[in-house]
Amino acid sequence: MVIIMRAGADESSIQEVIKAIEYNGLSGKVMEGEFQTIIGVIGDREKMCCLNVESLEGVEKAVSISKSYKLVSREYHPQPTVIDIGGIKIGDGNLVAIAGPCAVESKEQILQAADIVKSGGAQFLRGGAYKPRTSPYSFQGLEELGLKYLAEAGERTGLKVVSEVTEVENVNKVAEYVDVLQIGARNMQNFRLLKEVGRQNKPVLLKRGISATIDEWLNAAEYIMSEGNEQIILCERGIRSYEEYTRNTLDLSAVAAVKHLSHLPIIVDPSHGTGKWRMVKPMAFAAVAAGADGLMMEMHPDPAKALSDGPQSLTPEHYRDIMDGVSRLAAFLQESGLAIRDIG
Ligand code: PEP
Ligand code: MN
Repeated sequence: MVIIMRAGADESSIQEVIKAIEYNGLSGKVMEGEFQTIIGVIGDREKMCCLNVESLEGVEKAVSISKSYKLVSREYHPQPTVIDIGGIKIGDGNLVAIAGPCAVESKEQILQAADIVKSGGAQFLRGGAYKPRTSPYSFQGLEELGLKYLAEAGERTGLKVVSEVTEVENVNKVAEYVDVLQIGARNMQNFRLLKEVGRQNKPVLLKRGISATIDEWLNAAEYIMSEGNEQIILCERGIRSYEEYTRNTLDLSAVAAVKHLSHLPIIVDPSHGTGKWRMVKPMAFAAVAAGADGLMMEMHPDPAKALSDGPQSLTPEHYRDIMDGVSRLAAFLQESGLAIRDIG
């Protein structure tokens, strides 16, 4: 942490700041400039969290320069983490794909979707049973019945299944049916929920919050990991910006940033990231080229009839075409030595 004193702050206010630093078990290094004094704080990161100097006389601001997350950082764990979900590995350099409808709508719909997902080569079937919709009047999901249908579709096809958990009270129930627990963008900072999934022995797919910085997102992952669950997959799904043409602004630079800052695998969701099915293919290709460990895409047997997110849902034909393209692209990148694995 660096503490910047106001121009002209006197010696006694500098000494008060030093006292506060030392009171917290840290030490301060004073650097006097021509107009301003800066105090560098050295010591244990955890103790720095308790240091509150901005209310002291003469302090302009305190800037944290050390990262607040630890377990998810590269420094702590230099090798990339590989997550093994029943033999399917995420983060080992091979591309994985999660596909399926936004929501489980009926048994027929999810069984049909599962066959299509399987035929295109994805390893995971997705489908929301608890839907956190923007409007309370929109379809809210089939809840436990939806989970049952999803699990049945997974069993029939051999696909692993992923579904969102929205409440602490439902975590155990959702975990009974799925292979991966999804934390949605709207719940990325639901800290009780993060801690609860952190106590599960199940991989967690943590989507980036709608307005979350990369630092906040990694701290959300830290909440999960600090409870003991180390199986976390990050998912970039677009962030809110001033752009209105797309539903969200897909931040592909997050793939490179996360690979530098963390050892956790990261996948990209170009469906929620754009809100437009036409844009899914180019953004999926770009995500693969950027080094993403996987993709999550929404596909509906009949997007025109989808109860949620129809405009961004791929038809079965488009889905198969994208899967064919991304697998050829990933193979080409690997064979030609252009695949981005680790940016160090
Ligand atoms: C979803 O994947 O179904 C979903 C609701 O996405 P997000 O949380 O990213 O909006
Ligand atoms: Mn959706």
